Order: sequence, then structure tokens, then C-alpha cells
Amino acid sequence: MPVGPIRTALKVDLDKPAPSQAGLHNRWHPDIPFAATIQPGEVVTIECVDWTGGQIKNDDSADDVRDVDLSCVHFLSGPFEIPGAEPGDILTVEIQDVQPFAERPWGFCAVFDKKNGGGFLDEEYPQAAKAIWDFEGIFCSSRHIPGVRFPGLIHPGIMGCAPSTELLAEWTRRESELVATSELAKTRDVALLPEPKSIHAGSATGELKAKIGAEGARTIPGRPEHGGNCDIKNLSRGSKTYLPVHIKGAGFSVGDLHFSQGDGEISFCGAIEMAGRITVKFDIVKNGMETLGMKSPVYIPGPVEPNFGPGRMLTFEGFSVDSAGKQHYLDVNVAYKQTCFRVIEYLKRFGYSGEQIYLLLSCAPVQGHIGGIVDIPNACTTMGLPMDIFDFDISPAFASKNGGVTKMDLGSCAYTSDRK
Ligand code: ZN
Repeated sequence: MPVGPIRTALKVDLDKPAPSQAGLHNRWHPDIPFAATIQPGEVVTIECVDWTGGQIKNDDSADDVRDVDLSCVHFLSGPFEIPGAEPGDILTVEIQDVQPFAERPWGFCAVFDKKNGGGFLDEEYPQAAKAIWDFEGIFCSSRHIPGVRFPGLIHPGIMGCAPSTELLAEWTRRESELVATSELAKTRDVALLPEPKSIHAGSATGELKAKIGAEGARTIPGRPEHGGNCDIKNLSRGSKTYLPVHIKGAGFSVGDLHFSQGDGEISFCGAIEMAGRITVKFDIVKNGMETLGMKSPVYIPGPVEPNFGPGRMLTFEGFSVDSAGKQHYLDVNVAYKQTCFRVIEYLKRFGYSGEQIYLLLSCAPVQGHIGGIVDIPNACTTMGLPMDIFDFDISPAFASKNGGVTKMDLGSCAYTSDRK
């Protein structure tokens, strides 16, 4: 039988406000009306807006990042009904392609202000910053971070099936408990509870929309029972993800497309965020949660990944001794921060600012790993930096041969107009 054209299951309009489009939503809730139906085995393309719904502009100011409205994120495409999927099944999602829109060949990565979003290193970098990236086929480069160019490992930050009513209640219970009991919650957000402001529930209106606003889970965290905002860079072209199903018809949603991202997405808006299209094919494993023994998603990476060659990763080590010299017990969070600082110090010598490197480590295909987590008292984490993304030689061998490195003029990322 001849294969027909690939159907577009959902179109978006980049010129219209995201909250006015019925195929988008920004909360997880079982009652959000299905945006469309996709049959198992059917190959379809789904269009997505960027996760902020177009709030970030292609310009040289980070004021839009500083002022971003995070109550309305993420704008996801869906939910899609997959006929035959029932609670207890596993929905398999094969990603066949992900592309930016040809008419919008750019994306952004950003550091959020500590008071509005924050990020992994917001104590050290509390003010907003931004870099715009231009796409040329598989490659990207930025006028805000000169001297680098790399191929994208393009992927969706978010995929997941809708929660059941019971699961949604459990999410809210445990996240509320954290907010109520955490010492840290006195000084910063530790979880984001349901927030009726700026809610968009697809085609839902009136009482239903109000109910979804009052109860709907925020899309910021990934969650163990369904995946969601996992920000795993390897869920790229050709990958296959197994997602638990919690409602009849699955209610699959996707969004937060990334042209590229480093492990950890450390600056929070750290991937190269973009609008675009994703082509997928679904299958259903009946009763798969039990037969496959899956409580959380699993995935198999695809065969198309940038290859930087053996011996071309410069890998930095970090340990759970913080910047003040305090020893922490096997704390991976402290260790990974220290790993990031080691890379930042190393690259600053070439002329980059700390913010430029923070942005770069968030969005370039760096590899984060846990080295050791048993050798008391130090956890050891690593970050591998592909040396060939740089136009110049960053290798220790080159520096040692030349008696150090020469500082270059490497421009500036975008800052806010009121930067102190
Ligand atoms: Zn993202």
C-alpha cells in the first residue's frame, strides 16, 4: 500500500497570542479537552510554539527575560487522544523528526533573574541575560557568544500523558507538603502549586476552565509517574520513549522544543528554545505498566547524534566541597555546581564573561555524569565539553605549549537595560 502524505495533527499560528489557540494548554489536568485524535501507527506532525508562547524577542536586550510571565508556561500542544489507550497501558512515542519552522530559523537561551525564575547558579549570576541563536540547517551560532558553532541535538523538553484525577491530587499533596515543611521555602520557591492566573486549558471555557485553573498541575517539573518536563537532550530524532498512561485516550502532550541543550539545562531557560514541528508515531503496549514493570518513563536514544570524535571531550571534575571550603556529605548538587565553576573559570581566560559561559554550558551539548557517589564524604561529578564547538583551540595541550592563553574580544551577551 502506498504511504500517504504526513498529516499535520495540529497547526499553530506564531502571529496569534498563544492563549487564544485551542490546541495549546499550560497545565496538566485530566479534563482538558482533547485537541485532536491520532491513531496508533499513524505518522503525524505536531506544531509547537516556544515554551513561553513568544514572549522572548530576537533582539539585544534581556528586559523581556527579566520580565517574563512564568505563570503562563509551558505552552504545550495537545492533549491528543490516542484511541485504544487506557490507564495501565504504556504509550510508545517514536520521534521521527524535529525541526524549527523554516520561516523562524532562530531560538534563544536565557539566564532568568533570581527573583523571577532563577537557575542553578543564581547566587553567582542573579541578573537576567540572553543569547539569540541563528540556525543554518543542523548548525547554530550566536552573535552573543562568538567563537562557537555546533550541530543541534534537537528534541522536545516535554512529553507526557495527562494525569488521572487521583494522580493529580497526589502531585498536589506531596508538593504542598514540601512547600509547607521546607526550611528553604522561606527564602525561595521550592515548588510551584496550582495557579489559576494565566491558565490556558485549550478549548475549555467557563466553569471547566476555572476548575482546571484551580487544580491543574504546573508544567515546570518533570514527575515520576508521567515524565513531563524532563529536559533530556537525548530524546531526539529516532528515539523511542515509553510513557505510562493514566486516562482513557492517553491525553499525550508535547512542547518546549529545544534546538540543543546541555545535560542539566543549568540556567533553567538554558536550552536553545524554539518554535517548530515534531513528527511522531505512537504505539500502545496493553497493560504495559505491569508487564514491562514501568513506574516511570524509559527511553532508547535515537541513532542521530552529533559526533565530536573520540578524545575530543575536555572533561572537568567537581566535588562536594563548596566555594567557601565547607565539606558536604555526598552532595551531588554541590558537586555539579563546583563542576560548572571549574568550566567557567577555564573558559573565562579566553575572554568570555561568566554569563556567556553560563548560557553556553546550558545549551551546548555538554555531557554531565556522576563519577562517584559512594566515596565518603565526596561526591564527584563531571562535565564533558566538546572542544570542537569552538573556533579556537581550548585544549590544555595548546595552552601549555604556548605558555597560557591569550584573551580575545568575545563580545557580549544581551543584558537588561537596568543592569547593576
Ligand atoms: Zn525548554
